[in-house]
Amino acid sequence: MSPVLPVVAVVGRPNVGKSTIVNRIVGRREAIVQEKPGVTRDRKELVADWNGRSFRIIDTGGWIATDEPLAKQVSLQAERAIRESDVVMVVVDVTVGLTDEDAQIARILQRADRPVLLVANKADDDRREREIWPLVKLGLGEPHPLSAIHGRGSGDLLDALVKVLPPAPEDLEPAENDGGDRMFSVAIVGRPNVGKSTLFNRLVGDERSVVHDMPGTTRDTIDTIVESEDGTLKFIDTAGMRRKSRVDEDTEYYSVLRALDAVDLADAALLVIDATEGVSHQDQRLAERIDGAGTAIVLVLNKWDLIATEEREQIQVDVADRMGFLGYAPTLKLSALTGKNLKSVLPALREAEAAYHMRIPTAALNRVVREAQQRHPPPLDKRHRPRILYATQGAADPPTFTLFATRNLPATYLRYIERMIREYFELGPTPIKIRVRRRGE
Ligand code: GDP
Ligand code: GDP
Repeated sequence: MSPVLPVVAVVGRPNVGKSTIVNRIVGRREAIVQEKPGVTRDRKELVADWNGRSFRIIDTGGWIATDEPLAKQVSLQAERAIRESDVVMVVVDVTVGLTDEDAQIARILQRADRPVLLVANKADDDRREREIWPLVKLGLGEPHPLSAIHGRGSGDLLDALVKVLPPAPEDLEPAENDGGDRMFSVAIVGRPNVGKSTLFNRLVGDERSVVHDMPGTTRDTIDTIVESEDGTLKFIDTAGMRRKSRVDEDTEYYSVLRALDAVDLADAALLVIDATEGVSHQDQRLAERIDGAGTAIVLVLNKWDLIATEEREQIQVDVADRMGFLGYAPTLKLSALTGKNLKSVLPALREAEAAYHMRIPTAALNRVVREAQQRHPPPLDKRHRPRILYATQGAADPPTFTLFATRNLPATYLRYIERMIREYFELGPTPIKIRVRRRGE
């Protein structure tokens, strides 16, 4: 599974040496260098690394290829680079000096809410290197002298670049990423008598699936592997569901503890509720635990066959009400006994699996966060308006995001950002985690 790499966009008017720089940084001659300005490149995005940090680098030269006036094209190029990258590298040709287009690009980049590196290219010798200082006028900080053709200055430039990249995912989440090719595992949980065993036996009894039992992760447990047309799932701790024992007061307590253990091991939980009894306090507590464990959740309203048509709407309203904090979880209405709507269960779990493993490109994530922020800026924190500078997905399983912000953000605002991310990327049944890191302007 490929990690989420930060994106660096190289902008500048034609002929300043953008693709030569990309070639130099990538260390391969993959981007095509053309003598003629304004020619579309075949490939624009390549992976590079420096001192163990990998990133994607985009040669935006290919974005300038239409008949529009150059001035307009370079503005569009700069705006798009801000939208689609984590760091913008703007290139100026020192042998030519500052042009109107350079100044125009700079004006746009001054407003960028992400790091900008100014590169003074074609500084092939000491004399040229002394000519870089007028570029300070662009208001983009100190220029970095470079000779992309000869390599002079490229090490220092890359050091500066790595410093402003967003932190690597592995720095953020050391333990939570385990490679991602583990089997997706599901715990079926709920109070006694809601129909867990009936549901389980129905699911694995399905002719399409091939079933194996294997020793569970913890002592005295048995897990069941189900291989169906669209992939493999593991049901955790299924011993009790295979052979039912009598239920009394004590085992209710015991079965809840056991369910909690299973939930901690699972990627998703099927929380089964008896529709004839509605949502109890016990169900709510279990749901809170599942949510807190960062486990994806699919609600099952079982015994739907016993619910009279006129009662159905009220029951759904009650469930939505009492499980409101799980607003994102899909709710399936079915009958494990008659088999009605049973076929909705595996696809719902598959969707949960996909959302749970989802990796969102940094640029797209930042676009959504920026739009959310424009629509509703964060509330003032002691006379200062906090700003989210950028966001990264630090880990998957479940999707975990880090927001780099100038100040702390209130919980209500984080819920708003979460909702926007969830809706935009259709993260449906999976929980997502959001953390905030303080970062200077
Ligand atoms: P782009 O249009 O910005 O992508 O520019 P290119 O990378 O195609 O380069 C334009 C021209 O500048 C080519 O002829 C390059 O060989 C030349 N060039 C690029 N970098 C340097 C450099 O560091 N020094 C010199 N002297 N020429 C360079
Ligand atoms: P568990 O304790 O949660 O594993 O529940 P069971 O699967 O043992 O089911 C408890 C009782 O509910 C049994 O008598 C089942 O036949 C019954 N039951 C399970 N699912 C349904 C259903 O969808 N409709 C009806 N009417 N009864 C069901």
